[in-house]
Amino acid sequence: MSDRPADVRIKDFKEVDGGLSADEAIAEAERCLQCKKPLCVKGCPVCIDIPAFIGHVAEGNFPAAARALKEQNMLPAICGRVCPQETQCEGVCILGNKDTPIRIGALERFVADRERESGAELPETAKPTGKRVAVVGSGPAGLTAAAELARAGHAVTIYESLHEAGGVLTYGIPAFRLPKDVVRAEIDQVLALGARLKKNHLVGRSVSTDELLGYDAVFLGTGAGLPAFMCIPGENLNGVYSANEFLTRVNLMHADAFPESDTPVLHAARVAVIGGGNVAMDAARVARRLGAKVSLIYRRGEEEMPARRAEVVHAKEEEIEFYTCANPTRILGEQSVTGVECVKMSLCGIDASGRRSPEPIEGSEFTLDVDMVIQAIGTSPNPLLVSLIPGLERGRRGNVVVDKNGRTSIPHVYAGGDIATGAATVIEAMGSAKKAAAAIDAMLKGE
Ligand SMILES: Cc1cc2nc3c(=O)[nH]c(=O)nc-3n(C[C@H](O)[C@H](O)[C@H](O)COP(=O)(O)OP(=O)(O)OC[C@H]3O[C@@H](n4cnc5c(N)ncnc54)[C@H](O)[C@@H]3O)c2cc1C
Ligand code: SF4
Repeated sequence: MSDRPADVRIKDFKEVDGGLSADEAIAEAERCLQCKKPLCVKGCPVCIDIPAFIGHVAEGNFPAAARALKEQNMLPAICGRVCPQETQCEGVCILGNKDTPIRIGALERFVADRERESGAELPETAKPTGKRVAVVGSGPAGLTAAAELARAGHAVTIYESLHEAGGVLTYGIPAFRLPKDVVRAEIDQVLALGARLKKNHLVGRSVSTDELLGYDAVFLGTGAGLPAFMCIPGENLNGVYSANEFLTRVNLMHADAFPESDTPVLHAARVAVIGGGNVAMDAARVARRLGAKVSLIYRRGEEEMPARRAEVVHAKEEEIEFYTCANPTRILGEQSVTGVECVKMSLCGIDASGRRSPEPIEGSEFTLDVDMVIQAIGTSPNPLLVSLIPGLERGRRGNVVVDKNGRTSIPHVYAGGDIATGAATVIEAMGSAKKAAAAIDAMLKGE
């Protein structure tokens, strides 16, 4: 796909990747071997019939391709853009053994974009069952559970605490990777299946847990939006943000347009972002678009970075400076941030995560002069609602404990996505929500 030039794209929030043309999509689809035992399908957490949809693209029958995709995935334009296909379907595509794997994500995006532009068809829904299901959270897990359950004929109400639906798709992932009109269009498709959305409803506060538990079934998809901090000196200075707060201010509250929007954000000249995942890359690239010189500090090496390779490449093209094998020890300043002190790290034996373990090198401290620090070192499950539901079993990290079908310790309460797994990916959240929705449907039908 054609990327917009880095010096142009850092001046706005428009999408970086250009997508495939129809001719390019057909040519790519024609490379598919239509394997009898397709490994790509096994690599897809929501089991899309990948050869079928690619086969339709090769024939130039794009509406049939969209139908095949939406049979298993109601958010294809989103997934085509943000899923880590390189470690999933494309990572196991048989063509990858000798040649380049089929660009399944790019094809998925092409088909979904084409359908959106030419008018979308809806999958069939079953007759109303008279059963009521509450879905808490409108991120990819909640939206997927809602779509599956609405298709099965249940009356679904989605509760969302924010004034916009979409969870991380809306407030976390920036528009230059995932345009917000794409997110809104796919949410509208879920709602067109019959699910009702109640925004500005914080379950546990504005909706009581008694009211919630009064539904025939409940799906919890409240995500992992609680940011972790390093707990180093200086974290309370003005100019220290969690990535979640920084990204929410810009993506959801449009702080980049302040004072035309109500929410401000610090426009710093020099920014340090701490972390090496997708969230860190997003925060760094947003700060760059706000005009800052950005340094990214990561305690391990570049090859250990959990961020998608494409994000690392894009960040470097946008002149984000990488300080790998370095760890902040304190944030400097009196009232506001003036710098960050770091120590160099050496990478030793393999740790529990399977990566080389970082150890500080004594006497190797150095200082970066910055006016703002953004911490993107991880998040944990949102504690509010789950701590209020009596008898709901939680794990050591605050996650809701579920079985393989998303069942919690309370018979009619199910959970999926980041609230159950801890921070993971969009497609994993969707995969777990699909399993939970199937189990809820079976329970409601008395199977
Ligand atoms: C900046 C960033 C970039 C990312 N990039 C990628 C990427 O490129 N690819 C990828 O696959 N994954 C990425 N991820 C991870 C991915 O977005 C998450 O794994 C996914 O969104 C989890 O989905 P979810 O539905 O479980 O939770 P969420 O998306 O967090 O949604 C949970 C929703 O529940 C709502 N909620 C919480 N509590 C309540 C309550 N009590 N009442 C009502 N509503 C409530 C929240 O407001 C939120 O809208 C990224 C994450 C972040 C933060
Ligand atoms: S594994 Fe690759 S070549 Fe085979 S069907 Fe899937 S996408 Fe096509």
